[in-house]
This record gives sequence, C-alpha cells and structure tokens, in this order.
Amino acid sequence: MFDSFVHLVREIYQTDGFIPLHEPRFVGNEKQYLLDVIDSTFVSSVGPYVNEFEKKIAEYCGVKHAVATVNGTAALHIALLLAGVKPGEEVITQAVTFVATCNAINYCGSAPVFVDIDAATLGLSPRAVAEFLEQCAEHRDDGVYNKVSGNRIAACVPMHVFGHPCDMQGLTRVCADYGIPVVEDAAEALGSYVEGRHCGGFGVFGVLSFNGNKIITTGGGGMILTDDEELAQQAKHLTTTAKLPHAWKFEHDQVGYNYRLPNLNAALGLAQLEQLPNFVERKRQLAGRYLGWAEHNGAEMFKEPAGSQANYWLNALLLNDLEQRDAFLEYSNAQGVMTRPLWALMPDLPMYRHCQTDGLSQSRRLADRLVNIPSSVVF
Ligand SMILES: *Cc1c(COP(=O)(O)O)cnc(C)c1O
Repeated sequence: MFDSFVHLVREIYQTDGFIPLHEPRFVGNEKQYLLDVIDSTFVSSVGPYVNEFEKKIAEYCGVKHAVATVNGTAALHIALLLAGVKPGEEVITQAVTFVATCNAINYCGSAPVFVDIDAATLGLSPRAVAEFLEQCAEHRDDGVYNKVSGNRIAACVPMHVFGHPCDMQGLTRVCADYGIPVVEDAAEALGSYVEGRHCGGFGVFGVLSFNGNKIITTGGGGMILTDDEELAQQAKHLTTTAKLPHAWKFEHDQVGYNYRLPNLNAALGLAQLEQLPNFVERKRQLAGRYLGWAEHNGAEMFKEPAGSQANYWLNALLLNDLEQRDAFLEYSNAQGVMTRPLWALMPDLPMYRHCQTDGLSQSRRLADRLVNIPSSVVF
C-alpha cells in the first residue's frame, strides 16, 4: 500500500522531485494587480483593494460584513475580544487544532478548555460540549461559570479541520442553550459549506486565514466575518489603531491594534479569490482520486461529513494505528513525498498543559492514526 501510494502521488503531480504538502498557485491576475498597487503608491493599509477584497469575501461567504486583518491569528484575537472574552475567563475549544486558536485565546488573558471532537467531522463534538456543560456549567447572573475553576465560560471556538465542517447546527444549538457566543475558526474552510451555508457564517464571528499554505493566500492575511453591523464597525476600529475618523486630527479613543491588511496583500488576495471556485473544484477532484485509490488498496481516507461540502484543503489518510502511521511517515518522506502527522494535541504543549480537558478519547485516537498527504491544486 505504501509503495502504491508514492506511485499515485508521483503520477498526480507528474514529477520525480520532492513533492510538498501544499504550495500556492498563481495563475491569474496576481502580477497585474500587484503592479497596479505599486504604481498607485498605495501599498499600505489604505487603498481600494482592501475594501474590494472585504466586499468580495463577504459576498462569497454569504455574510454581511468582512474586516481584513494582517493574519488569521489577529482576526481571531479581535473576534474573541469583541465576543466579550476577558482576562481570567475560559473558552471552550478543541485539542485538535493549529496552535493559533489557543494563542488567540491566551492573548485575551483567558484559558482554553479542551473538549473532544466528533470522529465523523474531526471538529468539536456538540454531544461532548453538551456533556461537559451539563457536568461543569453553572448559571449565574452574568453568564455561565465553570464549577471546576470558578471562571466564566466566555465563548466557544469550533475549528473546521482541513476544511471539513463541524456540526454547526448542533454546536450553535448547545451554545445558545447556555448563552455562550460561538466564534468559528474557519481559517482552513474557505469554500466549505454546511447544508449550503458557508463556514464562518454560523457564529457571532467567523475567522479566515490567507496564510501561504491556505487554499488562497495573500502572503499573510486574515478576515473577520460577521452579520452584525455594530460589531463589524468595532472590529474595523480596533484593527486600525482605534483612530477617530477626522480629516486631519490624530486621536484614538482606546488601545487599538495595528492589524489592518495592507493593500499590497489584498491585491494578491483579490486575484486569488477569482481562482477560488476553480481551486475548490480541482481539490475536490483530487480528493476523489485519493478516495478511489484508497478503495482499491484497502486504505482509509477521511471523507467530508454528511450534509456538508468540504474544500478538501488538506487530504487526510487514516492508518490503522500509531505504529503503521509512523512507518508510513518514514517511508513516504524518505521517498520525497511529504506527509505529516496531525498537530500535537494542544494540551500536550507546555503552554496549555494545565488546561482542563474532558478526556479527549476521540482526539487521541485520531492523532495516532491521521496523516496529511500532498494536496496542492493540480492543473
Ligand atoms: C492557519 C490557521 C490560523 C491562522 O493562521 P495565520 O497564520 O495567523 O493566518 C488559525 N487557526 C487555524 C486552525 C489555522 O489553520
């Protein structure tokens, strides 16, 4: 099976050289728009491409407002602050995520609480969240508190792993029961839908990333999505140093952040966004090829959850156990085909070791078995 996998990947990417996990594709108007920005001199945070990029992303995602940021981590930071996360509070999230999710929670002075995932979605399990809240939550006048720590539970952050949507109907229902705002980490899920609705549009905020390894890139960049006009205005204000609008005065009414996406990056983003439908279609075709191979070779690929349409940002192969996983990683990487295990689970990192968990049995099982395989768009 290992050997036939390496052959398949070499056939797909048509090369005898090193095959990376994911690389960007610049096949459209990228150079033209970048030259236009340079000629205009508006390379920084003010310029028409930033506003246009926000408008087009909001349209694509089916949300009312989008606010562009320097990266996805900054977008998460601001979304959590505006969702009301304060120092000494807690945020429910998953152990299976990229470290940025937890770092943004930490920047707010709050701590993550790790609840298990659903093996069918790879994302936060509504049933596990409900069980955790039944056991640990206590209603008080100003919100829901964790009986174990005595701290307020300020938000819940599900993450759509590799572009596979979480069960958002289930999660929004459980969180609404407890009055806990949902902030979706949709960094990996641009082009993914649940029952026809785009990821990032279910919570009070959704967050995207345009880092170099994501489905489209601005070099570095992120986006805050929301349907709430007031919150969108506050997000724009906080990400632009909280400067009061005025023709010539320089006044700021709170501690703001220098988080706005430069026009230069937005130009790249607009050109990439024009390619997105094409990229999603080709990624789904690639996933189809991997799935077909798996069926004929007794291997198991992770398939999009029922009722959802995934962008298949990174394809995931499920091995039998830790031993087979490591043998596969050794073999494929030695053959010049890049493959990678799941991120270390967040509570296994020194910064988050002290955080409360619910046992995380599905998360640990998945971590032992999952491997990401080359997933760059194929032309
Ligand atoms: C990429 C990513 C982010 C944000 O990353 P940036 O590099 O700051 O844009 C956040 N969460 C997840 C799950 C990600 O994959």
